[in-house]
Amino acid sequence: MSASRALEEAESIDGYRAACNASVLNAAAREKQVYAPHFLKRAELVKLNDAMRKIPILSTMDVIILHASADNGFPHTRPNSLICMPSSSIGYEAALINTLTHEAVHIHQRRNVELWSSACRKEGWTPIPKARIPTEFADRCRLNPDTMATPFWAWESYNVPLPLFVREDYPTLDGVSIKWLDLRNGALFGEPPPSFGARYGNPPQSEHPYELLAVEYATAELQTDDAIIRKLQSI
Ligand SMILES: [Zn+2]
Repeated sequence: MSASRALEEAESIDGYRAACNASVLNAAAREKQVYAPHFLKRAELVKLNDAMRKIPILSTMDVIILHASADNGFPHTRPNSLICMPSSSIGYEAALINTLTHEAVHIHQRRNVELWSSACRKEGWTPIPKARIPTEFADRCRLNPDTMATPFWAWESYNVPLPLFVREDYPTLDGVSIKWLDLRNGALFGEPPPSFGARYGNPPQSEHPYELLAVEYATAELQTDDAIIRKLQSI
């Protein structure tokens, strides 16, 4: 299947690009970006292939290259097994292996929804319906294809991390800060609850349990289906 066809098929399942276009801020944040298949120079292709060979679980997934500007150069996944790497995201080997492992964990989440949902609950997270997030905040959230199926989760019942665009007049995909919505009173806090810090430290992507665990599992180099499942079952 061509990369374009794979993206079309993914879009028919998740509607990610349509959702971005339908959101004023998400569309503006991606305005001059080209979201389309691209190519790699030979040296970078060799680097990518070398890194992929070191991650066994990738043998069951597809990796496609997007234009350097796609989603700000952020690697991400699409259904069902597509890892999208903007050409600008091919870095040095150790970083590349970490990135590919992180994305592979997101594909694992897509394939094992029940298992991941119950692992997140055991960690202390509760899925929250979108209707419980005030529209003014929900509309300001950066859309993330890796979490958009169940975007809102509360830590310890009522603390919901939200990836909010900092500037509404000039939204950018890297101009986002995580704010914590207290569902009890609708207040927004800049700092996570202390119990969150005690569990996760000060992580780079605190917006969603799928991101938090993808970061941890990639750092732990969990690179087979079995290794990931064993870890999930140990929670
Ligand atoms: Zn991620």
